[in-house]
Amino acid sequence: MTTTFTGETRALIAGQFISTSSTFAVTNPYTGLEVARVADCGVSEAKTALEASTAAFTWWSKTTAYERAALLRKFFNLILRDEAEIASMIALEMGKPVSEALGEVRYAAGFVDWYAEEAKRVYGQTIPSQFAHKRLFAISQPVGAVYAVTPWNFPAAMVTRKLAPALAAGCTIVLKPAEQSPLTALKLATLWLEAGGHGDVFQVITTNDPVAVSKVFMEDDRIRKITFTGSTEVGKILTKQASDTLKRVSMELGGHAPYLVFADADIEQAVKDVITCKFRNAGQTCVCTNRVYVQRSIVDEFTQKLGEAVAQLKIGDPLESSTQIGPVVDSAGLEKIKRHVQDAVQKGATVVTGGAVQSGLVFQPTVLGNVSGEMLILQEETFGPVAPIIAFDTELEAISAANNTPFGLAAYLWTKDISRAMRVAERLEYGIIGLNDAVPSTVQAPFGGVKQSGYGREGGHWGLEEYLFTKFISFGMEQ
Ligand code: NAD
Repeated sequence: MTTTFTGETRALIAGQFISTSSTFAVTNPYTGLEVARVADCGVSEAKTALEASTAAFTWWSKTTAYERAALLRKFFNLILRDEAEIASMIALEMGKPVSEALGEVRYAAGFVDWYAEEAKRVYGQTIPSQFAHKRLFAISQPVGAVYAVTPWNFPAAMVTRKLAPALAAGCTIVLKPAEQSPLTALKLATLWLEAGGHGDVFQVITTNDPVAVSKVFMEDDRIRKITFTGSTEVGKILTKQASDTLKRVSMELGGHAPYLVFADADIEQAVKDVITCKFRNAGQTCVCTNRVYVQRSIVDEFTQKLGEAVAQLKIGDPLESSTQIGPVVDSAGLEKIKRHVQDAVQKGATVVTGGAVQSGLVFQPTVLGNVSGEMLILQEETFGPVAPIIAFDTELEAISAANNTPFGLAAYLWTKDISRAMRVAERLEYGIIGLNDAVPSTVQAPFGGVKQSGYGREGGHWGLEEYLFTKFISFGMEQ
């Protein structure tokens, strides 16, 4: 396994990889060492990419779904061919344990595979007319050139979840990856070219100045859609910017997922699953639970079992295959976690296990007991390996606490009572429900939030529809 980076570091603009006069550093969050220096694109490169993207749309949108599907299929095979290399790249640039990163690469490839198939199933409709001489049709067409902005926490999957349906629909796309994790995006770009794809249909603009670069795309009428995954704060900025040109908007934003464990649940399974749900990627996923509500009669048993299991998690170098907990992405992320834990402890929470920085950017996997409503950790997304446990008494109380947040991405519940399962699932104000399931995300299903977690859906046929618009054709015939 390589620990130094030898892959592409230039941006893919207007058909080719280009160098820029300035570059920015990508740092391994575990060692703190520089991994690579990447092209730092500015307004001029953004304008070039914009022109190339809109020009390419004129011919790319006219290719057949079968041509696009064949290309996506080759792209998919190449991602799988290089899955181990991409997984170590992810571990290197943002610290996800490599065995988990391999899962991400397969998940990411899955979107390309699925949309290669779905490209062929964009059907229209014929509508009966009340006039004998008229025929009415509704057809789907690609929305146009797309600007996509992605976060660092899934450097491969958040890219392909946008890229694959956009390309399948016949849109061109300019991707701006997060500055912490541009290497995986550039690797995907090299594989796209190797598959025979054009570097103006899919472009990657790397930059350390997302504000200036994004402005170029957001102000231009020819960019017809913005698709964003990241924080609610930035999502709101982009949504406001999109309103000037009335772009189509998809927003996959922050979460604050509750995890409800009822006394009638399988406790062993609920403990095992909360570890998967909370501690993967060191708690840095938008669907990671941030609040574990446990019914009072089982809260002591649950807390003790979870504490024991979490204390066993293996902390270490993300490039080691046995590592389960690596570093968080940067010092800002670490500071937020420390602030949440300190605040909780000051206000009466108990540290069941962990609770401190292990070394560098690694925070110990932590379980907090006796957590209550006024603590920061129950109000904001922590994005770290900390599971706060809150006791509840009644079903209504649990639902009300779960919904008491501006966010609405994912929620989880554990119960064996089938009526309660459906009742609670329906009342939770969330876009995704894991019902006795800690990992509901899958390529063929709709992923997305409500409230301040955003709108639009990725995955399945819903994800493709985000890149299509409906055109109505009313056809008057000679009789
Ligand atoms: P972030 O919002 O800080 O950054 C995301 C992207 O936006 C990056 O590419 C960044 O360069 C860019 N950006 C930042 N400021 C910008 C601006 N003013 N204009 C244009 N672009 C700008 O988020 P992050 O820290 O990278 O990611 C973590 C957040 O993402 C968490 O809140 C998490 O919940 C969320 N997330 C959501 C989903 C989902 O599907 N709902 C998935 C993963 C992550």
